Parts: sequence; structure tokens; C-alpha cells
Amino acid sequence: MSADIFDDTDKAEGGNFIRNFIDEDLAAGRYTGVTTRFPPEPNGYLHIGHAKSICLNFGLAQDYNGRCNLRFDDTNPVKEDVEYVDSIREDVRWLGFQWQEPIHYASDYFEKLYECAEVLIQKGLAYVDDLTAEEVREYRGTLTEPGKNSPWRDRGVEENLDLFRRMRAGEFADGAKSLRAKIDMASPNINMRDPALYRIRKASHHRTGDQWVIYPMYDYTHCVSDAIEGMSHSICTLEFEDHRPLYDWVLEALDWPAPRPRQIEFARLNLEYTVMSKRKLLQLVKENFVDGWDDPRLPTVAALRRRGFTPESLRLFASRIGVAKRDSWIEYYWLEKSVRDDLNPQTPRVMAVLKPLKVVIENFPEGETREFSGPLFPDEPDKMPFRKLVMEREIFIDEDDFMLDPPKKFYRLGPGREVLLRWGFYIHCHEVVKDAEGRATELRCTYSEEPRGFGAGSGGQPAVIHWVPGKASIPAHVRLYDRLFKVPRPKGDLGKELNPESLVDCPGARLEPYLAEAQAGQRFQFERLGYFIADEPLHSRETPTFNRIVTLRDKRS
Ligand code: ATP
Ligand code: MG
Repeated sequence: MSADIFDDTDKAEGGNFIRNFIDEDLAAGRYTGVTTRFPPEPNGYLHIGHAKSICLNFGLAQDYNGRCNLRFDDTNPVKEDVEYVDSIREDVRWLGFQWQEPIHYASDYFEKLYECAEVLIQKGLAYVDDLTAEEVREYRGTLTEPGKNSPWRDRGVEENLDLFRRMRAGEFADGAKSLRAKIDMASPNINMRDPALYRIRKASHHRTGDQWVIYPMYDYTHCVSDAIEGMSHSICTLEFEDHRPLYDWVLEALDWPAPRPRQIEFARLNLEYTVMSKRKLLQLVKENFVDGWDDPRLPTVAALRRRGFTPESLRLFASRIGVAKRDSWIEYYWLEKSVRDDLNPQTPRVMAVLKPLKVVIENFPEGETREFSGPLFPDEPDKMPFRKLVMEREIFIDEDDFMLDPPKKFYRLGPGREVLLRWGFYIHCHEVVKDAEGRATELRCTYSEEPRGFGAGSGGQPAVIHWVPGKASIPAHVRLYDRLFKVPRPKGDLGKELNPESLVDCPGARLEPYLAEAQAGQRFQFERLGYFIADEPLHSRETPTFNRIVTLRDKRS
């Protein structure tokens, strides 16, 4: 996908093909307003792909002054759970959207769906089938061969009604019978070859308990639920395109009064370096490849929130990637860029050292301290107050800012070199203390208020590096997160494709004293290192814990 389609204009504000359809429908008087819904199945946590669908559905309702329902598509009692219902509600709200109260559930319509099924039977448009699931598959045919009619297809209306009622009453075992639409076993569209409408499932449902032993199928439930709720546009992902004829067939067969909802399909989001299928996400969680549904490496909304992404950044991402009709992969870069663009103007800059290297400033008096002040928003000096920085005789700099034998392009500290400590003074390194392996363990330096010309930049210009004071700094748990997979388009081989460096702990990390006041959920830019958030729920004054949200620099790969 070419980069130039992602300029900074808000694509969702401009044209997308769904808006064009809606505009046409409104102009033609097919609908008097726009009503949409977001219909998750409560069988997993929401991910960034769902966030795209949420932004689309709720965004359209907002823009057209319509309404958007939240509807749980809870027709599969075995895989669903209230844990998921609760997390989905929380995630939608966190993303900044408000559904039209009350929340809907497909299970609210079980009785109505049952009545509609009897109507179909009475019209001769549905029948009870005794074929087993395997036989149904055999009879279905293939893409190139038509299917065969079930021997039970021509049962009379009375017999069908009687059997369907007995299915409901629990007289038959799971899988012994099903209710099927009577459409066309020779249809080129396999979805139209007498699709199942009801199956027997003697399982407790998280909302209706043991009230039902038959459950309606997704395709049948979805269109009827949309129609009951008065949806104008039923927006779904591309894989439902071939199901649209069935969607329309059911409402037609039921003589549903106009205006009937119109199904429109769009391409699902595929994001590089991650997986989105609930099955794979569940596997990552259940097999402990990650630490729960909100592990900051996952693409779930709960994980992105914990990682420090803002709702604004996810909405910005959704609007930038826009809505397309054909499947594509989006570079991870666009997700990171959205959060950087959102955080950059509003996030205070502070200092932290992730891999501390001790520096002793020999001409700084022992036991004394000196205060400097540094702006929290250096690019906008009037925006916010300054915070105090404490200089001590012993400080820490980051190991990466020093090299024993620096190559030409390395402008930072080395033996005999000089750097500027951010918001402080200049230090000049005149001695390196090494361990038995020859690694630097301590630098002996002297400070000066003015540069002395030993910097490695052009004309002796010193580089600026970050630092923290030795005693006054705060030890912290800092966790660096990166992409979960090392390949851009993982096939799901968790053994081989996971990025071993998706989580790197910095055991010795230290923060500048100002961060003692940080509250869980607060975000900071650690200068030169990235944007970080004080982890919820682990951060506290006693155990400061920070997650890296994103690095500072745009990396496209
Ligand atoms: P999975 O296939 O992983 O189980 P799903 O699509 O079945 O996911 P649902 O809970 O049914 O998950 O999805 C709710 C809504 O979100 C649907 O309208 C679906 O089309 C949409 N959606 C799901 N995944 C994506 C995605 N990757 N991009 C955009 N929309 C998505
Ligand atoms: Mg689904």
C-alpha cells in the first residue's frame, strides 16, 4: 500500500464508499435517518480491528445525527462469557463512544426469532431435517457441483411445526435434528443451499440460562435482529458479502415491512506484526505466551490501553487508514505514528536512565547538591511550569551514551570527550574505571559552566545527553515493549514467529526525582527514549512501574 494515501487529512471526514451509499439511500428517501450497530460476539476481547469497526459504526451515527446500538451477538452459548461482555462495554466507552441505551442482546430476541421461524415453516420456507451434520455436509455439494435435496425436505407444514416444537421442548438430542431454510440446493452460492436456521444445543446460556435447548444460527439471527432494531445500514466485514443474499432472503421471506436494513461490507483491518483472530489471541493468552488479555504486546483494546495508547490515537489511526472495499495489510508504523502524533504536543518531557553508568564529577563538592530547572515542554516554554533537577557529585548516564572507543559517527561521550548534561552543565571525561572484562563501570569527569571544545560534533560541539542524580533518583521497573511478532505477516506459528524481544525489562532503571509524584496512568516522554506510561494497575509510589508506549522515532519496516 502506498504511503501517500495516508496524509494527515482525516479520511473518515472525506469520502468513503459507505458514506456514498448512505448519501444515495437518504437522497432516494429509502431511509429517514441513519441507524447502525456494533455487533460483537462476546467470545473474546475486542482488538484494534474491532476498534476500526466501532469508529466506523459509531462515527457514521454521529455524523448523520443518527444512533448506534451496541448489540451482543450471543447465539453460541458454549463460547460466550460475561467476562467478555463487561470488557467489551468498557472498551467501547473508553474509545469515546456512547451507544443508544439500552444495550441489546440477540438473546433478547430468542422468542421473536422462534416465532419468525414458525412463520417460515408455515409458509413452507423452512423444514426440520434429520440429517446428521456430516450428512448435511455431504449433501451440500461443492463450489463446482450442486447439492442434493435432503430426503426430509418435503415434510408437510404440520409435521415440521410439530417437530420444531418438540425440538424446542427438548425431545431430541444435540445434533439429531435441525431447522433449515428451504431455498435452493443447486444455488451457485453455497450459503443459499438450505442453510441451517436452528440447531439443538443443550447448553446453558449466560443470559437465558436453561430456558432454551435450540439456538438460532448467526446468519438468521443477525438480519432479524437488525430489522427488529430498525437498522438502516448493517455494516460488516467482507467475508459476509456472500451471505448478503441470505440476509435479504430471510427478511423478504418474513415479509418484513420496509425500510429493511441494507448490508454493506468493508475490508477488515489486518495489521502487520500482529494477529487479530480471536482464536489465535485466545491461544496466546491460554498458553501463556503473553501475560493475560491486557498484556501490552497484544492488539486488544485492553492491552493498547494498558500500553498507554490514548483513545484519541486509536480514533486517529482508524480515520487515517480509512475504509476500503478490498483487503489489505496496514503497516504497524501507522499505529505507532498515530500515538506519537497524539502524545507529542501534550506529554511532558522528563529524564530517565534505563541502563545506568555511574559518573563521578570530581570537581563537584562531596555531599553538596545544586538545583537546575528544566521545562516540561521545551518546545513550548510558556505552556507549563518547570520542574527542579538535582545535580550531585555522582550521577548516572545511560550506558549507550558512552563508548570506550567511539567511531566517527558517535558524537556522545568517550574518553577525553565532553558532553552537555541536559538542563545542566558540561562534563569532560578524563578517566574510565573498568572491570575485569574491560567494560566501563565508572567514568571520572570534571564539570564546567562553558564548553571547553572537547565535544565530538563539528567544531568541538558537545552532544546533549540525559542523566539522573545518583542519590535522589528513583529505582523503577521499566518495561520496553516492541512488536509481538518478528515477521510482518505472521501465519500464527507461535513457536517460530514470536519476537523474543517483544518485552525487555530494564532492571536497573532510574528516574529523575520529579517522577516520585507520578500517578498510575500518567504519560511522560523520557527524553531520547520514548513515551512511557505509569502502569495501571502495577505502578505505585513504592514500586514505580513504567511501560514504554512507543519509541520516539518513526521506524518503517
Ligand atoms: P473473529 O473472526 O476473530 O472471531 P469476529 O469478526 O467474529 O472476529 P465479532 O465479535 O463477530 O468478531 O466482530 C464484531 C464486529 O467487528 C463485526 O461487525 C466484525 O465484522 C467487526 N470486525 C471484526 N474483526 C475486524 C477487523 N479485523 N477489522 C474490522 N472489523 C472487524
Ligand atoms: Mg463474528
